[in-house]
Amino acid sequence: MSRLLALKNFRIVDETTDLRGAVIVEDGRIAEIIPVPDTFPENIEGEKRLNRFCAGAGMVLDGLFFSGQSPHNAAELPVLMPAFVDLHAHFRDPGFPEKETLESACLAAAAGGYGTAVCMANTKPVTGAGAQAAALHRRAAALGLIDLYPALSLTKNMEGRELSEITRLPGPAPEDGGFRVRLLSEDGKDLADDGLFLAACAEARRAGIPVSCHCDLGGENAATRRAIAMAASSLCHIHIAHVSTKEAAAMIREAKSRPAGSLNISCEVTPHHLALVKEDADALGAESRGRVNPPLRGEEDRLALIGAVAEGTVDAIATDHAPHTEKDKEAGAPGFTGLETAFAVCYSTLGAFGVGLSKLSSLMSAAPARILGLAGGGEGRGRIAPGLRADFCIADTGRAWTVDPAAFKSRGKNSPFAGRELRGAVLMTIHGGRIVFDGRDNV
Ligand SMILES: [Zn+2]
Repeated sequence: MSRLLALKNFRIVDETTDLRGAVIVEDGRIAEIIPVPDTFPENIEGEKRLNRFCAGAGMVLDGLFFSGQSPHNAAELPVLMPAFVDLHAHFRDPGFPEKETLESACLAAAAGGYGTAVCMANTKPVTGAGAQAAALHRRAAALGLIDLYPALSLTKNMEGRELSEITRLPGPAPEDGGFRVRLLSEDGKDLADDGLFLAACAEARRAGIPVSCHCDLGGENAATRRAIAMAASSLCHIHIAHVSTKEAAAMIREAKSRPAGSLNISCEVTPHHLALVKEDADALGAESRGRVNPPLRGEEDRLALIGAVAEGTVDAIATDHAPHTEKDKEAGAPGFTGLETAFAVCYSTLGAFGVGLSKLSSLMSAAPARILGLAGGGEGRGRIAPGLRADFCIADTGRAWTVDPAAFKSRGKNSPFAGRELRGAVLMTIHGGRIVFDGRDNV
């Protein structure tokens, strides 16, 4: 018997859609989208079909009564978006359970509205083999909260001497959600040896997998210039992680303007670089709680990043979720806890610059899914369309809340947004048609 879930009276938003209506889910996939406008002309046939679906559904979620208290104003319905896809997070598992575990990270991701995440390979041991990545993916699948695609390091143990088992990865597969390695990265340790870097790029190109370059070596601008040159000479897909300077954004803009086929480049920014500046890091302690790689920059850089987002130079927003213990932060460990604040930070920050929800959905769901080869096929995600996976984030964009790290599911409590009021709350996360986070009573 098929499992039927009906979600009605929502504002349905993805990168190309923004309508009022209902979504019918069958066996974990989107079966149908029924627009139900509250103005003339009404969709009488659609309403009838929706009523028939609702009568037979195992569960009906009604946005009008979604807050659990009072009916929503029809003009301010909760927003139903594709679950977010994070290209860059640190789950610390295996090896650092005091910072985070797979369980706490998956809970944090689900609470943040994420349905899919890539975790970086700087674990203990380093994730350098397909079998290790597959084992982590299976452990996450058993928890059933999100789909996890661990990145593989480029070199053994991230020592920069010898290629990892990326040499044994299979060639490109058709776009689907099945498990395969979908991102390669040496994380914060850029590969200094040009020859080895190019050899890694050749393997990545053969396997059809992007390489995420963190561009810290010798400063972000020099490292970004080098990564673009590597993209041009290797023709492998290079993804530039956490862009933070106006110069790096300008270089990527220029690279993307080159003739088609001359290189394949994409990039991400983080919520904290969009929202915060150096003075915020100083106030938190530039060498302790405010420390992050790359560091928070000046207002000019921040505005340049927002401009790059608005114009389309930036493909995706990634959290760089990097949980640490309080003690490690005090000792200067770089990084912020970010999965549970990402949506609200981006919505609060970008809305003021005219970046709407559809654009935000593209940055947080559709574009990262495409970069990972997870946008099409029967297990495709990142958009709301018939046949795709029923991975949703339901948010109340009108709700303001104050960040309290003590309430985080993540073990890492170091958030630069602690105590700040943000707008936009994740109310529910649905993964493969199942409710995996219900925060309606928490906010
Ligand atoms: Zn990182």
